[in-house]
Order: sequence, then C-alpha cells, then structure tokens
Amino acid sequence: MIGGLSEVVGVVGGLGPRRWWPWRSRVDPWAVLIAEFLLIQTDAFKVSLTYEGFLRRFPTPCSILEVGQGEVEAMLKPLGLYRQRAERLRRAAEYIRDNYDCRVPCSYSELRGIPGVGDYIAAAVAIVACGESKPILDTNIARVLSRAVLGRNPSRRYMSDKELWMLVRQVKWNKELLYSIIDFASEVCTARNPKCTQCPIKNICKYHTGKVM
Ligand code: SF4
Repeated sequence: MIGGLSEVVGVVGGLGPRRWWPWRSRVDPWAVLIAEFLLIQTDAFKVSLTYEGFLRRFPTPCSILEVGQGEVEAMLKPLGLYRQRAERLRRAAEYIRDNYDCRVPCSYSELRGIPGVGDYIAAAVAIVACGESKPILDTNIARVLSRAVLGRNPSRRYMSDKELWMLVRQVKWNKELLYSIIDFASEVCTARNPKCTQCPIKNICKYHTGKVM
C-alpha cells in the first residue's frame, strides 16, 4: 500500500461507525439501494424520517410498480426532488422486474447496469449488502484520504483524481470501514475547520504534520 494508507485505514476503521441511521442495520440490497437513492443530495436526518415508512410501503422493487406514480411521489415529497426520484426509482424497478424477476441483483457489475445506479451507489450496495470489496469514492472518503495520505485537500473534481482512485483500489472495503470513514469525515475531518488537535491520526496525517512542520 502507498505509505501511510494502511495505518490511516487501520486507525479510522478501528474507530467503528459512530452514528446510527435506520438503513445501517439493513442488509437486503433493495433496502440499501433505496437508502442510497434517497440520500442523493439530501440530508441524512431528513432521509431517516422517511426511510422506514417508504420501505414498509414498498418492500420490493415490484411493489413500486403496483401503484401510480403519484403515490410514490407523495411519500418522497418531504425529501424534495420527488418527481425525479420517483421516476428514477420506477425506471430502476422496471429494469429489475424485467431482468431479475423483481429481485435486486447482488454484484457490482449487475447493480451498475440498473438505470440510475452510478459508480458510487453500485459500490455502496455491493459493499454493504453483498459483502463485495469494490473501490468507492465520495466527498467524505476523498477528503479523509486526500488529506491524511496525500497531504492535500481534494480538488472539486475528486471523482477524476487518479491518485485518489489508486488509493481506494488498494483498500479492502467492508461495511464497517465505509461507515467509519464517512462518520470520521463528518465529525472529525470536516470540510471546514477539521478537528486536527483531537484527531486520532494527527501524528500520521500528512496534511496536519506537513502544516505544523
Ligand atoms: S489531522 Fe486533521 S486533516 Fe488530518 S485527518 Fe485528522 S482532522 Fe483530518
């Protein structure tokens, strides 16, 4: 592994997830997929208020196809972007019905083929629900690894940063590690004013040690 990566991943992963969200106890791919769809551009707390009710009403991909679009939209309304989300979910559900007999497939490559499922969502569902280790990058992972291992802030276009992709490809991903890094990024290595003095990896973080040297 690139210098420092295994230490950073080891310590941050060892902290464990620090926050509870209803989707984090779910392991069926549909429940995890729904969470990722709802979390797009939406605050996690807001999603937590809608998530379980939505899954109770729509426990399978085909259950979405059994009702009119208006009913799906009504349940998604508190989250905003409800028309786009409802349409996106319907397209995904139709594809899952037509290709997988209404069961969400559990591999990255099959998930990636579902309309509306991009790299991040496919990798997240594969890691969380299918136990597959796939390279994954979002704004939280980019910030922590970029600062701690590369000694710099991530660029706005972190999704096309080859160095970051090289890092995440070397990591063995699992659900606990993914949630641990996301929580660490939200609570300690925040976008503004990171809490470096209280940070458990301050002595190995290249961003912090580079700044204070
Ligand atoms: S020392 Fe600061 S910049 Fe480095 S990982 Fe910790 S909080 Fe982030």
